[in-house]
Amino acid sequence: MANEADVRSEVGEWVRSHWKPSLRLREWRELLVNSGWAVPSWPVQWHGKGMPAWADDVVRDEIQAAGAVATVPAGLAGPTILEQGPDAMRERFLRPLLTGEEVWCQLFSEPSAGSDLAGLTTTAVLDGDEWVINGQKVWNTSAHHADLGMLLARTDWDAPKHKGITYFVLPMHQPGVEVRPLRQMNFHASFNEVFLTDARVPRDWVVGEVHEGWTAALATLAHERRFGLMGGGGALNKVDPGPARDEALAEAAETAKVYAWYPQRAGRVDLVLEHARSQGRAADPVVRQEIARLISMQRASQWTAERARAARAVGRPPGPEGSIGKLALSNVARQAAKVHTLIGGTHAMLAGRDPHSPMSGVIAEVLISVPAQSIAGGTDQIQRNILGERSLGLPREPDAWKDLPYREARNR
Ligand SMILES: Cc1cc2nc3c(=O)[nH]c(=O)nc-3n(C[C@H](O)[C@H](O)[C@H](O)COP(=O)(O)OP(=O)(O)OC[C@H]3O[C@@H](n4cnc5c(N)ncnc54)[C@H](O)[C@@H]3O)c2cc1C
Repeated sequence: MANEADVRSEVGEWVRSHWKPSLRLREWRELLVNSGWAVPSWPVQWHGKGMPAWADDVVRDEIQAAGAVATVPAGLAGPTILEQGPDAMRERFLRPLLTGEEVWCQLFSEPSAGSDLAGLTTTAVLDGDEWVINGQKVWNTSAHHADLGMLLARTDWDAPKHKGITYFVLPMHQPGVEVRPLRQMNFHASFNEVFLTDARVPRDWVVGEVHEGWTAALATLAHERRFGLMGGGGALNKVDPGPARDEALAEAAETAKVYAWYPQRAGRVDLVLEHARSQGRAADPVVRQEIARLISMQRASQWTAERARAARAVGRPPGPEGSIGKLALSNVARQAAKVHTLIGGTHAMLAGRDPHSPMSGVIAEVLISVPAQSIAGGTDQIQRNILGERSLGLPREPDAWKDLPYREARNR
């Protein structure tokens, strides 16, 4: 088994001999993918090096340390397709995902199917060599940028709720797909409604098997819970100047439009001490008590993330630490919002350029962004249900109609 020092030295050497700041971003990513360093933990056959999972983070670090642009994160579609296949899908989609040529979004939630995702009613009907899709999705982050969507649709209404669902890859740029941005209470517009009217999907663009999409959906959701505990695409400030860096910066600026408020959503624990000092509240015993509570919770959450990373490093499938970690992040974010409010008082609500708004309105944005932390990727209550049922072995939530054909169950 490779050890970390060897991997660092091997990739460092490779980057030094291949990275040129004069490369275009696409050329550099092609090199990374061809070499297997883009996702070293993936099998050799699928653009990786068959290394243990920890190698991905180590290699990303090392690429950045050598002054080069890091790999595109494989997101949710990459690991799902890698795991669930089939090979024709791996062949078609994994490479352009890693080179950044094709950008993805997740088309799971519907107006009446969020927590109860398997209750979805978007329908796919086979028509010759294509599936015809009709329905509506909602809360779809980045759908306005995406080339492809991970789409769940019902393909068999006579099967029980979880059985008749298929996981498709939907081409987003077509007349049957209408994407409408939603404006959030923090004024950002990260997500969208997506209306599907006779949208078309090639017959074979199915992840896993037809009618068995629930299994593939669970794989995506497990990765999504862990994703919150993992790092992102990496910093660009140390990258050597040149076309690749300029293109990566432009790409990052576009991404930042969607994710600019995500640090606020996590509560901005990093600003708490500065905020307390700037408001003269750092010596207040109640404020200190709450800050201490917050920092302790954050430390415990980081240790959970470490456990998740360690589990991943030894190749364990996503386990309870995903749900535990996600719940911990919600608790930290809520406590951070509470502490910022305690420090700032009513001023904490002042947004934007108001001269009295603490930290140029960032604190106000924290207060209205934190609720999203406990909703996105499965709410806190759903994480508790998962932990109770799957990890602790408690009785499952009753669902009297679970085995009925969904056509019938839906009307009960
Ligand atoms: C920032 C953000 C990004 C998102 N991005 C995407 C995306 O890219 N793609 C996508 O498809 N979706 C996305 N979502 C949607 C997200 O997955 C759903 O909002 C989430 O699953 C909850 O569904 P819902 O909003 O329909 O709430 P509901 O399911 O209606 O839940 C309402 C309330 O009821 C509670 N509840 C529901 N069922 C139970 C139960 N069985 N037991 C106990 N309590 C229950 C919930 O916890 C919640 O408090 C995103 C959401 C957010 C906030």
